[in-house]
Amino acid sequence: MSQTTERILVAESVSRKFLVRQGLFAKKKTLTAVDAASFFLKKGECLGLVGESGCGKSTLGRLSCGLLQPTQGSILFCGTPLPPAGAGSWARGRIQMIFQDPFSSLNPRMTVQDAVAEPLTARGIPRAERIQAAEDMLARVGLKGTGKRYPHEFSGGQRQRIAIARSVMTHPDIIICDEAVSALDASVQAQILNLLKDMQEEFSPAYLFISHDLNIVGFMCQRILVMYLGRLLEEGPTEELFRHPAHPYTEALLAARNGLDASHPPLTGEIPSPLDPPAGCAFHPRCPYRKPLCEETMPPWTELSPGWRVRCHVAQQRVSCSQRSG
Ligand code: SF4
Repeated sequence: MSQTTERILVAESVSRKFLVRQGLFAKKKTLTAVDAASFFLKKGECLGLVGESGCGKSTLGRLSCGLLQPTQGSILFCGTPLPPAGAGSWARGRIQMIFQDPFSSLNPRMTVQDAVAEPLTARGIPRAERIQAAEDMLARVGLKGTGKRYPHEFSGGQRQRIAIARSVMTHPDIIICDEAVSALDASVQAQILNLLKDMQEEFSPAYLFISHDLNIVGFMCQRILVMYLGRLLEEGPTEELFRHPAHPYTEALLAARNGLDASHPPLTGEIPSPLDPPAGCAFHPRCPYRKPLCEETMPPWTELSPGWRVRCHVAQQRVSCSQRSG
């Protein structure tokens, strides 16, 4: 894989707020879906973004491709502020997105060859060439000779192959995969994940891989961001996070995969409302390690080693203990 250290996407203290009304006559309240998130994506890497459903992962994914604009902060793509996604955007075709449900993003009245060829339209390529390129790409994803069929004639896994074929047509720099395999059976999931890896080998896009499933993220990604209630809490290399999770929330997510792991405390309680987030550390109502300080003061970022950082008042001691005990 042609992975370099070049940062092609840099998010700096990005927040996204929405005004929401919880009842017909209720006053509007501010919901902070993403709160001061800073991260970067390197050329050709696969960066995982994990957290429970509703934590702001998808909003951060949409911010990262220009489908949403930040309320505060900035997102730089190749060093330049990312413009809103759309027909006139200079970044069009350079950042693509694959969604959980490809059926909703494919036009039911368009043949799949037209759907796959569509991202090339803005480049002024003649239709016959676009269609040939789409047929070639469909063959690459295992759907040779199916171009004249319509989306409803395919299974969920096949539709996700079509979405992948469409996403790589413009040889994008970045593909944002938002729960791209969550709706598929385990055996089909494995095929699609391997196809995404093959496409990365061939076309070298960086992936921002959004998922609630740590097994999948562990298989796909070199680095991981952990998100909770709109905030990033831990960022680091996959191997380090899996061996010595520094944040209690990361530890709880790891414990929950493949059933409960008795060596880690399980995750209990409900995720608080983002309309009324807890003071201090947002995770404190569910944290088995909380101290009085955690209820008042939001922990700052602590760097544990180059590229590995965490927001927790006790993480450093916990990681040191965990590393000493092997
Ligand atoms: Fe738990 Fe405190 Fe760390 Fe938050 S800062 S995760 S409450 S120990």
